[in-house]
Amino acid sequence: VSTVSSPKRKKRKKYRSVISDIFDGTIISSVQCLTCDRLSVTLETFQDLSLPIPGKEDLAKLHSAIKTGSCGEAYAPQGWIAFFMEYFKSWFWGPVVTLQDCLAAFFARDELEGDNMYSCGRCKKLRNGVKFCKVQKFPEILCIHLKRFRHELMFSTKIGTHVSFPLEGLDLQPFLAKDSPAQIVTYDLISVICHHGTASSGHYIAYCRNNLNNLWYEFDDQSVTEVSESTVQNAEAYVLFYRKSNEEAQRERRRISGLLNMMEPSLLQFYVSRQWLNKFKTFAEPGPISNNDFLCMHGGVPPHKANFIEDLVVMLPQNIWDNLYSRYGGGPAVNHLYVCHTCQIESERLEKRRKNELEMFIRLYRAFQEEESPSTFYCISMQWFREWEGFVKGKDSDPPGPIDNAKIAVTKCGNAVLKQGADSGQISEETWNFLQSIYGGGPEIILRPPVPPVEPGILQTEEKIELETHGL
Ligand SMILES: [Zn+2]
Ligand SMILES: [Zn+2]
Repeated sequence: VSTVSSPKRKKRKKYRSVISDIFDGTIISSVQCLTCDRLSVTLETFQDLSLPIPGKEDLAKLHSAIKTGSCGEAYAPQGWIAFFMEYFKSWFWGPVVTLQDCLAAFFARDELEGDNMYSCGRCKKLRNGVKFCKVQKFPEILCIHLKRFRHELMFSTKIGTHVSFPLEGLDLQPFLAKDSPAQIVTYDLISVICHHGTASSGHYIAYCRNNLNNLWYEFDDQSVTEVSESTVQNAEAYVLFYRKSNEEAQRERRRISGLLNMMEPSLLQFYVSRQWLNKFKTFAEPGPISNNDFLCMHGGVPPHKANFIEDLVVMLPQNIWDNLYSRYGGGPAVNHLYVCHTCQIESERLEKRRKNELEMFIRLYRAFQEEESPSTFYCISMQWFREWEGFVKGKDSDPPGPIDNAKIAVTKCGNAVLKQGADSGQISEETWNFLQSIYGGGPEIILRPPVPPVEPGILQTEEKIELETHGL
């Protein structure tokens, strides 16, 4: 979902985080109008999948759907055997729900009809439609939440159904969108969170696999104990964490570290983003080399990163760089680190501008404070003012966009007046003109404080006193 903003507004800042790098995936969901066939498609980022636990009837529906083949891929190819195994088990133990069932229920097509019709953009009418979704990009670590708690108005209930799940080789190929980029779709379990108790009170424990010795441990408050795989297998899972199978990536890491030990003398040294190298060391799919995370747009080191550039890069010999670059792409190649001159000049210019604007503002504000009864106030949106303050105080690297008073204004008789309860501040006419001359924008909102009424009684006394003095 992209935010549309007018070109005048300041660009939305893009933030990256380790959490996003690890947990973010993308779902592509489509709604099709059954009258005109129009398809509307949206992309959404997810950090976990919240799956329903299908009941008996839902299961029958899902399983009959495989036979007719309408959503069949969900269980293929080894699914048939597994399906019959579960079927026979259910004869003895009652219905067994698999994680694959929950996934199939989540990704099943949804018929939009009756009260739930879909408003088609082409027909411009409510129409019957079908909704379906697939995964466009799978995350490094897939977090799966099973909807065990049902919260109703008066009470909450917990669904205690056992959901079986694989420790290794969870295959998500059936849920991958057809035109999505090639990627790993098999996952191995690394952790399970379980909830013991009822919907109103209970206790959480976790089972986690140690990556170094591949053993499973139970984490229960302060106590940690080794457990068997079957203990994990039989757990009543609430949240599951699956990690992309990274055998191939491990092989690649071993190969690279082998090359590194050869200590081949190299004429050229290459700087590589430490952030990317960390992904290479831990991710199944680290993506292209992202050296732009320590470079400016001109290919140098931005001045504000110059002091800690050693923390951002790792120096590698040529043979390693050649290997990484030919496999992962990206770049650019960096053999020499220098503080960018263009960015240096730009940052000095901005620093000067900050100082000038702040000094001028303080001077004008002081003059305003000294005025005893100003005849006009200008209102300013505090949201904009805070952005400007962030800029002049150096907390924000970019200046704000034009002054935006739209949120604090209402139009009355063709004039912009202050909206009741709006988040606004008051400045003098001079300050307004100063800020407006630099940033533009509006609208102008002027407050005129009422002139204190002159009480006739007091005036009379004063006149009397004056008269009396005259008399003397
Ligand atoms: Zn339509
Ligand atoms: Zn630069």
